[in-house]
Amino acid sequence: MRNPANKHERPTVHLTSFEARHLHGPGHRYAIKAWSWMDGELGEGRVSSLCPEPQWIDELHEGFLSPRAFECQCRERFVALWPGHLVAEDVWNGNRKKEREVRDGDTLCCTCSEAEAEAGLCHRVWAAEALVAAGWRVVLDGKELSFERRTQAES
Ligand SMILES: [Zn+2]
Repeated sequence: MRNPANKHERPTVHLTSFEARHLHGPGHRYAIKAWSWMDGELGEGRVSSLCPEPQWIDELHEGFLSPRAFECQCRERFVALWPGHLVAEDVWNGNRKKEREVRDGDTLCCTCSEAEAEAGLCHRVWAAEALVAAGWRVVLDGKELSFERRTQAES
């Protein structure tokens, strides 16, 4: 597993909402939301390994899936996220799919507000933790999230 010890070697990825443009990085913008192709902003592609299934959202809203179970299902999906492996699917040209590597400075967006994310109700918070574990430097809603920072805060 690629997990550089020195955080300065880590490429940076930003996680926030499409709306919070001032928190976006300088690179490409990709969607990490369940309804990517059906509504709202789509960015330049979709990182499917970080998107919940639309069905999960329905079940959550209808009470068939608890928030805790939803979180578990999301976290189970968040695998193989290492820099160099993480890709977005770009399907802008008709049905043709093109995979683009997520790179340093790119931004991954869903549509939840910062307040929802802070309350732990948005899957981008869990995605951010998984990305740190996979070797990224992660800026979540404008704040850097890292094991180093957490360790310092807890000690
Ligand atoms: Zn969200």
